[in-house]
Order: sequence, then structure tokens, then C-alpha cells
Amino acid sequence: MPTGIVGEFLELKAETDADVLAMQCGDFYEFFADDAELVAEELDLTVSQKSSHGSSYPMAGVPLTELTPYVKALVERGYRVAVADQYETDDGHAREITRVVTPGTLLETADDDARYLAAVVREEDEADGPYGLALADVTTGRFLVTEGGDESDLRAELYRFDPAEVLPGPRVRNDDRLLGAVREDLSGSVSVFDAEAFAPGRAKHAIREQFGRETADSVGIDSDLALRAAGAVLGYVEETGAGVLASMTRLTAYGDGDHVDVDATTQRNLELTETMRGEGEGSLFETVDHTVTAAGGRLLREWLTRPRRDRARLDRRLDAVEALAGAALARDRLRETLGEAYDLERLAARATSGSAGARELLSVRDTLALVPAMADAVEGTALVESPVAEVLEELDRERARALHGELADALADDPPKAKTQGGLLREGYDGELDELIASHEEAREWLDTLAEREKRRHGLSHVTVDRNKTDGYYIQIGKSVADQVPEHYREIKTLKNSKRFVTDELDEREREVLRLEEARGELEYELFEELRERVADDAELLQDVGRVVAEVDALASLATHAAGNDWTRPELTDERRLDVEAGRHPVVERTTDFVPNDLRLDGERGFLIVTGPNMSGKSTYMRQAALIQLLAQAGSFVPARAAEVGLVDGIYTRVGALDELAQGRSTFMVEMQELSNILHSATEDSLVILDEVGRGTATYDGISIAWAATEYLHNEVRARTLFATHYHELTALADHLPRVANVHVAVDERDGEVTFLRTVRDGPTNRSYGVHVADLAGVPTPVVSRADEVLDRLREEKAIEAKGSRGRDASGAGGGDPAGADGDGTRQVVFDLSSGSFAGDDGAGSVETDAAGGEGSRNGTGPESAGSGGPPESVGGTESGEQPETTEADRLDPEARAVIGELSDVDVAETAPVELLARVQEWQERLGEGR
Ligand code: ADP
Repeated sequence: MPTGIVGEFLELKAETDADVLAMQCGDFYEFFADDAELVAEELDLTVSQKSSHGSSYPMAGVPLTELTPYVKALVERGYRVAVADQYETDDGHAREITRVVTPGTLLETADDDARYLAAVVREEDEADGPYGLALADVTTGRFLVTEGGDESDLRAELYRFDPAEVLPGPRVRNDDRLLGAVREDLSGSVSVFDAEAFAPGRAKHAIREQFGRETADSVGIDSDLALRAAGAVLGYVEETGAGVLASMTRLTAYGDGDHVDVDATTQRNLELTETMRGEGEGSLFETVDHTVTAAGGRLLREWLTRPRRDRARLDRRLDAVEALAGAALARDRLRETLGEAYDLERLAARATSGSAGARELLSVRDTLALVPAMADAVEGTALVESPVAEVLEELDRERARALHGELADALADDPPKAKTQGGLLREGYDGELDELIASHEEAREWLDTLAEREKRRHGLSHVTVDRNKTDGYYIQIGKSVADQVPEHYREIKTLKNSKRFVTDELDEREREVLRLEEARGELEYELFEELRERVADDAELLQDVGRVVAEVDALASLATHAAGNDWTRPELTDERRLDVEAGRHPVVERTTDFVPNDLRLDGERGFLIVTGPNMSGKSTYMRQAALIQLLAQAGSFVPARAAEVGLVDGIYTRVGALDELAQGRSTFMVEMQELSNILHSATEDSLVILDEVGRGTATYDGISIAWAATEYLHNEVRARTLFATHYHELTALADHLPRVANVHVAVDERDGEVTFLRTVRDGPTNRSYGVHVADLAGVPTPVVSRADEVLDRLREEKAIEAKGSRGRDASGAGGGDPAGADGDGTRQVVFDLSSGSFAGDDGAGSVETDAAGGEGSRNGTGPESAGSGGPPESVGGTESGEQPETTEADRLDPEARAVIGELSDVDVAETAPVELLARVQEWQERLGEGR
């Protein structure tokens, strides 16, 4: 073990679990050994060698005042950085670690986004039991806790808040699978923290200490899980020494019932805050964001990612948006005022952590100065009667004025950045300081004018008075006249062309100036710290004002977008319906000449099967439905002529395997996990969007799964559902399941040209676009004709057995065959593939499913129902290997036909190369399977 400075460094390093240590050595922070090499590599620092007792160690350093940006850069790359400061002791100095800067406790952030530190706790022995989650944004003092049902809820929450750092509790940290999933979902890092901090007793104590006994008891979280998570976060913030505990003034608990369940996949699919490609631009948030403050932007983002379920609150938000949308002038004035506001929540955290300088306090002052203007902005306008006025009334004008007054009296108008340079405070703020400053200035004045006086008094030329570190103040006389100096001059140094002298009086004045300088600096710093603490004590006020600014800003932003884009106020209802007249996609409408479409989902038709050729607009139509639902429950206007929106408890989506394959994240397994999650989570009050199901597997498997999922959603879950599928067979379900209806996106076809009309009409598509597009794409005529032949043949041969649904819906359903009825009155509709053909079809043909985006019976009415050969034993599971006897029609196996169909259907010009590659790979795999 090396001794000396490197030894000390290594000892300190052994004390901490941080990745890197920066140790103060005089005016520098130094990194040694491995750490030096790491920072040199990451941050382009120069490495030198430090020799210590015969060995030599790499060393890199940064000046004391420049540490922050280096630490920030390291932390943003995922390192935890310990900082050891030097302090005086009786026999010299020593060093200790004062802070560990981690991704979740980094105060100096470059952007406006919230920066969360999260802790997750799980019950010890339950595999997928409930969890507790705490989230703290150390940059604003925001603190949230919740508890939830299962892993998918947990992942949805984590995805939504995207914490910079996650502290897994004792049980979670050993769950490699869950941790792996969290790591995959998040950009942040995972840090292991003392298991003790998660213990219930200690956590409760920490919460009481922080938020007061009453808060802890009254927030309405009684599960130990959430409290334990909260306790761990508090412990971690304290231990890392971020110094922001005081800015965490309020504990906000939210429960399962407050928000719409929008799982991580759905947040991604709907491109709420970033596109599938990972860009902000083109997301819903970027499209509707017109906020003028950072806090407003954060809040709006939260509204969009956490839509609400309670109508009263949403109606109030909508009232406010409506009022603001209709009062353009008042809105503009309000936004102008808000635009001058600084980020008070962040400033409050900086004041409490001690890192706020005079300029930050000036920002506080200037923002508080806006309070009266904000409150008055609604006077005499239409907003007076709106909830906007109520929000503004929450401003504590008295307290704001008091704090503003104090800051205005105290702070100099143009203070320097550094806290130690003086000049922070205004004259007249403190009598003692003013006196010290006056004496100091006077003493300096004496020194400044000394040279002139000495010239005159002693008839000297070439006289200057200056000061440096070694000599202090001195009188410098040019060599030529140096022998003319008076007797009381004492020579202290000879230079090439001059000599330096001091006098008793100069020594005395020098001591005086230095004393005053120090006293002045100390007093000013002390007064400034008092002022900063005064502001820190009012952190809650700043957070309140900050919250009002954010809320008004977010509301005004929604209003601005609504007014500028002809959006309409949705009518919220508790009925189970979504009725949209001339709806548009909020993002696509910005860049396209958009064709509006109607949508109706209600008790009579709750399940729409959406068909149409590729690129016709199916996805857009379905996403637009989900986004209208989501916007309405965020309290926003919606892109439509009129919309009646029944509140949902969850929005679930899954999109085609191909889209995701292109991103390199999908396998058939992932697709099925997502489907499984939807089938488990969705309820009668949910909205479900399925954009292709079962595409990632062999055709028979795929159609079986899609079929069964449709039945289950319709019969059991009864969620409002939109389902786009290329399995045209599914359109037949409309004849058998009462609440299933078909819609299709219309195209016009003339002289071999297909024009996309983008209009959604009732009924299934009535054409085989697959073969048709193959033709258009120049697939050789013999192949196209042959495909047509095969298709016709298959149509003649196939039959679908669909046998009704749950009793209460069964009115027009299912050909009256009760064969599948089970005990509780639920009759299963079965698509039997066990024989390689549809149930009861003893004909030779195997089943064709046209994978090319839209096939069915040309007459558009679906299947010819055939008699059942009794209840089929199983659904699915038949691989194409188990084909019935080969007939002419089957010379190509169905999978190969499906692949050809899809191949000819691809629009090469419209498909991204990576997606093409993914598709080719998929085709190859499927062809491989078929053989
Ligand atoms: P599909 O899901 O049927 O393959 P998409 O929904 O992806 O089709 O739409 C294909 C293209 O058509 C998209 O680029 C989209 O911008 C455009 N589009 C879709 N719906 C409309 C519409 N109603 N009006 C105008 N353009 C539309």
C-alpha cells in the first residue's frame, strides 16, 4: 500500500463505493491511479506521473473552481463520483468525503426535464406481488410515492418518469430478470444502496423526520412498501450529501385509481414523448407543447403521460382550457408575463442545497415580482369566472411580496457570479457592512493615492505603489532616483531597474486594508448566507408559486394549440363510448392534408375490425382514436369536429411485430407477452388497440391466436377495441359476435392505379389487395393468374365455424349451435385447425389465410358457415407440417403463399431499408419452418 498522498487517496477510495474519487489537494482536485486514467479517457484530461516512495502513479487534476462541470460530465455518463474535501486540523490538514454525486442526485442539470431518483420495494416472498415506488426530483424537491399491483404497472411507472437512477430494494436487487427489464426500459442507472435503509422502522422514522408526523400518517399510503421506498430515497439523498432534503417539503401519494393505466409499451407506441425512432420531434408532447416556462413543460409532459380518471378534475381543466382558448388577448398577456419567470422549483432546491449564488436569488426576486401581474392579468377579462382565476388565487401574494421586498432591499443590481468577490449586496442593506466598506474603500484610496503624495512630498519621480503576494504593498522607485529616497524608507528588494521600499506607515495601512478586506468579505458572505437561508426557509412558497406558474402555463399551452388547430372540447361521459365526429391524428394532421374520419365505439359496437391494404391508414386511424381518448383524459381539447369520450381506466396498445422488428426489439415472444398483458389488464372500461396480432408466427398459429384473442376481448373483457388485421378471415366474426363490426379504409382503383382515399367506411374490404398489388408490382402474369386461381379455389373450400358468444350478447350470434356452450353460459367460438382445415370442412383444401393485407370472400360477407363436426378439441397448435393430403391447390404450402403475398405487397418506396431487412429475415424464417 503506497503511503503519502496516493496512499491517502486509495484509503478514501476504499471507503466509498463510488466509481471515481476526486480528492482536494490545495487548489486542485486530483484523481490518482485507475481513476486518473478513467477521467483522462472520459474527459480528455492530461495524465502525469506522480512518484510516491519509489513507485509512480498516474495523476490528473482540475482546478478547485472547475470541478463541477467535470463531475457533471462523469455523472451524466453513468459514473458515481465521490468528492473529498480538505480541511484544517491542528497539525496541518486532512481530507474526507463530503459528497457522492450520482445520476439521481446531480443538481446541475443541463436541461429542463425532471430528474428523478427512484426506489423500488417488493414484498420478500411474492414473485409478482405488489410493489412500492418512491420518486424524488432533487432539482425541484418534488417527492411522489405510490404502490401498485404488478410488474407491468411498475415498469409503466418507471418508464413514465424515466428516473436517472433507481435504487432497488433488497428483494428487487436479486431479481435479475426484473432488473434486466428495468435496465432495458430506462436510460438511467441502477445503484445498490444499504438494505437497512429500506427497513420499515427506519423508513418510517425518516419520513416523519422529513415531512412531519401528520403528513406521514395522512397521505393515504398505508402500505409499508411505499413508505419503505420513500425512506430509502430520503436516506440516499442524505447519505450522498446533496443537501437538498430541505427542499422536499411535500409528500405526494397517488394511487392506482387516479390515473389511466398506460403501460410502457403503449407510451412508446403512441409516441407520447418520443417517436419510435427515439426522437422528441414528432412526438405528441412536442406537437402540442407551447409552454413558455421549463416547469410548464414538465407539467404538460406529465399530464400527457399520466392522464386522469376523475371527471370533475378533468372538466375543471377543460373549463380552464376553454376559457383560455376563447380569450386570446388575455392569454397572450398571461403567457408573456409567465415567459419572464425563472424556474422557481429548481431555484428553491438550489437555495436549500446552498449552491444558489446572488444571481439565482435575483432570479427569485424577479420571478416573485411577476406575482401581482399574473394575478391581475385575469382582471376584467373573461378569465375571471374560469378556473384559471382560481388557480391564480392560490398565489400567496402577501408572502411573495414580503420575500420579494427583502431580496430587492438586499441584493445588488448586478452582482458578480462568484459569492466571494464582494459586491453581492446593496448599499444601505446593513449598516455595519456599509461602514466596513466605507473604511475599506478609504484605506484603499489612501494606498491608491500614495504614489502621487510621495512624489510631491519628497520630490521623487518614477514612483509606483503596488502589491504582490510575497512583498505585500510596496513603493517602487526607479533605479536612477533610488538614492534620493527619504530616510524612513526601508529597502526590501532590488530589481534590475528599480528598488522596492516599505515604510512603517505603509505597513500599518496594509494591515488595516487587509483586515478590512477580510472583515468586509466575511460579513458580506455571512449576510448573503443569511439571505439565502431566508429564501430556503421559504422554499415551499417558491414551490407553490412555481406550481401555479407551471399550471397556468400548461393550461395556456393546451389552449393555444386548441385555438390554433381548430380542436374541440370533448364531452366527457361515464358511459362506455367513444364517439368521434371528423377526428384527426394530432401529429399527422400537422404535416399532411389530413382526411378526417368518424369513429363510434359503444355498447352496440364495441369491437371494430379494421381492414384495408397496407399503407391505407389503418394504424393512423387507430392511433388517432387512442390519442383522442388520451388527450381528453389529459384535460385537453381534441382534434375532431365533435367528440363524446367515455372515461377509460386504461389504454393498451400493441403494434405489429414488423414495426418492432425493425427496431430490433421484437420477437414473437415479446408480441405474446404484450398480448398477454393486455388480456390480463384490460377491463370493460379500457380502450384496446391491436395493430396486427399473431404476425410473428406461422399463419395457422397466428390466425388462431388472433381469433381467440378477439373472442376473449369481446366476450370476457368487453373492452372497447380496435383491431387491424391482415387475417381477413376475422372479418367473419362480425356475423357471429354481436358487438363486433367491420370497418375498412377505402381505396379507389382505376386503370390499375390504386388511390388511397383515407376514408374509413363500414364493412370489410371487399378485394384481395394482396394478389392485386402483386400484379401492380409486376409479378409475372402466370404467377398472378395462378394466385387468383388458388384463391378462388380456397374460397370455395373453406368454411369458418363461429359459434356465438356469451349468452347476453348471443342474440344474432353463431348459427345457434350450442356445441361449445360451457357451464357459465359462455359459448366459445372456435376456429378449428386441428385437422388442418376449418371445422367440419372435410374437403381437401387446407385453409388459406391471405397474409397480404386484406382478403376475404369477394362478396364481402365473410365465410360460408359450415356445419360443425362437433366441438373441436383444440385451438391452434397446428403447424403447417401437418397438412392434409396435397391437392392441386396446395402445391405451394400456405406459409409460402402467405410469404409471396406479403412480398408482393411491400411498397419498397415507402419502407425503411431496415424494416425491409427485418421482413426478409422473417420471410426466410417462415419459409424455413414450412419445409
Ligand atoms: P396502414 O396502417 O394501413 O399500413 P398507416 O396508418 O401507416 O397505414 O398510414 C399510411 C400513411 O398514410 C401514413 O404516412 C399516413 O401519414 C397517411 N395517412 C393515414 N391516414 C391518413 C388520413 N386520414 N389523411 C391523410 N393521410 C393519412
